[in-house]
Amino acid sequence: MSSTEPINLLGLDTAALTDLVGRWGGKPFRAKQLQRWVHQRGADSFDDMTDLAREFRQQLTAHCSIHAPDVSSEHRSADGTRKWLFDVGKNNAIETVFIPEDDRGTLCISSQAGCTVACPFCSTGYQGFNRNLTTAEIIGQLWYAKRAVQADLSSARVGDQAEAVPEPARVISNVVMMGMGEPLLNYDQVLGALRLMIDDNAYGLSRRRVTVSTSGVVPMMDRLGRDCPVALAVSLHAPNDALRDKLVPLNRKHPLAELLAACNRYLEHAPRDFITFEYIMLDGVNDTDQHARELIDIAKQVRCKFNLIPFNPFPQSGLKRSPAARIRLFAQRLMDAGLVTTVRKTRGDDIAAACGQLAGDVKDRTRINERLPDRAVIAIKQERG
Ligand code: SAH
Ligand code: SF4
Repeated sequence: MSSTEPINLLGLDTAALTDLVGRWGGKPFRAKQLQRWVHQRGADSFDDMTDLAREFRQQLTAHCSIHAPDVSSEHRSADGTRKWLFDVGKNNAIETVFIPEDDRGTLCISSQAGCTVACPFCSTGYQGFNRNLTTAEIIGQLWYAKRAVQADLSSARVGDQAEAVPEPARVISNVVMMGMGEPLLNYDQVLGALRLMIDDNAYGLSRRRVTVSTSGVVPMMDRLGRDCPVALAVSLHAPNDALRDKLVPLNRKHPLAELLAACNRYLEHAPRDFITFEYIMLDGVNDTDQHARELIDIAKQVRCKFNLIPFNPFPQSGLKRSPAARIRLFAQRLMDAGLVTTVRKTRGDDIAAACGQLAGDVKDRTRINERLPDRAVIAIKQERG
């Protein structure tokens, strides 16, 4: 028995798994078989893998494990949304949300515990940065949720014939990296997870149905385009540098012109022929007709669609959601200019599962709360007044 930590197979992409199996004299197809057991069938015990040679299973049992982060709580919303809080050690927690819709089931997953970007409208930003998640912890969220969602589907098939939710909404067909953290600031670990998501022997998701959302980490957008092009959402949130410097502080490092150029370079590799611009609707901050006009100018520079996100308020932010009528009018202004624009529906409200509300009850270990609110709110109010 080895004294080293067992290798968590959830963290190994195809190349690493093939390498591991090869070191034990196994052929690449053994790695594929193993990968299917782990990710497609959601096995967590090597004993179940009956079509693998006994000796191979013994080696796996001696040296490897399959485990997602521990779940500390689970919530179900009246609208079918499910949310899991995972304990990733040392008082750090991350969240994962499953959102069933008519024609799809979307899993929203986290990439970091906390976030360094510190956007003033985001509760993750207020926690400060705790640590990067590993590939095993990122893919572990999908592995765990897939098992849970599948368990629901099987029990509904057996018993509840009257279940109204259509079947496509009861499997995970889409993954969005829109939970906690900035995925492109944890590039290598996120890349390993993305590769597993689209691998036919693992989750087999279409690249078009896997979305990375970024606040605009320009150099890593270029790398992602080369290494693993998937759908890209960019958190724009402001149509000019003066405001974006405040709302998305990373803009000071990578201003709009640089970001838009990176979007165009990404489109050369992307599986979709547009970038989704996410735009949070903050009352009196970024939601005027003038802002809409500036956005329309930006849209002339990049093939894009807009997703307007009604702000989900939380006490420390000092910010308010734009009124519904303003959001509708803002969307109309963009649509009148020929831009495809959607307004995000708020889901899972009763279980605090919406964007930016994730793990809001986790302790702030970096004490950023004591520093950030004043700075952020005052800066934005100056802009307004
Ligand atoms: N760090 C990445 C991905 C995680 S945040 C990014 O910023 O893109 C995912 C989305 O949720 C982003 O568009 C973000 O701006 C948005 N968001 C954050 N806080 C929010 C809040 N309080 N209300 C609504 N959307 C929020
Ligand atoms: Fe980080 Fe995204 Fe939240 Fe900004 S919105 S603090 S980049 S997680």
